[in-house]
Amino acid sequence: MSDFKYEDLLKKAESAFSKGDKNKMRLQVPDPDVIYEGRVTIVRNFIDIADMINRDPKHVAKFLMKELGIGVTIDSKRLLINRKVSIDQIKDKISQYMDSFVKCYECQSPDTEIQRVGRVDLLVCKACGAQHPIRLTRESKSSESSLEEGKDYTVTVTEVGKSGEGKAMFRGFRIIIPGVKIGQTLHVRIKKIMHDTAIAEVIKEK
Ligand SMILES: [Zn+2]
Repeated sequence: MSDFKYEDLLKKAESAFSKGDKNKMRLQVPDPDVIYEGRVTIVRNFIDIADMINRDPKHVAKFLMKELGIGVTIDSKRLLINRKVSIDQIKDKISQYMDSFVKCYECQSPDTEIQRVGRVDLLVCKACGAQHPIRLTRESKSSESSLEEGKDYTVTVTEVGKSGEGKAMFRGFRIIIPGVKIGQTLHVRIKKIMHDTAIAEVIKEK
């Protein structure tokens, strides 16, 4: 490969892709509105949160019950948790829920739905068309949520810019890959990361 100027490529990619996808990708989930009554934690806007992420409140409640290991009850718009739980803990669990059941594993779009096919629940993305069996993310997601230069990842190209650079969304990063086609799933190596954009080169086609 000739001597790529990665900075130049990044700049070009920034302008080619700057509009549009940012807002669509990031879903603003309201912070839990929590009060305590004795030993009970009450999330007053629980139904609003479930509505915002477009999931059945009962499904979210069941997940929280399992994760927190305590009984919970839905009471009109509120969720009652039978123990004192900090706001941060609740936020953590909701973001964990989002990672497993809401955000597309490929492009991170929250515009998804869960479809049951046979015995398998699939997370189906309306933005990029990806379909994956639901996988539960574990708490320690430090290695899962970042990207490292020099490491290889598997990504799917969802867009190709004006000057021919392919784009893939992965772990919240915009990955720019020169010389690829839309829809290709590729093993790529990250050459350079700047902010939320990374330049990668193809190692091999999947
Ligand atoms: Zn997607």
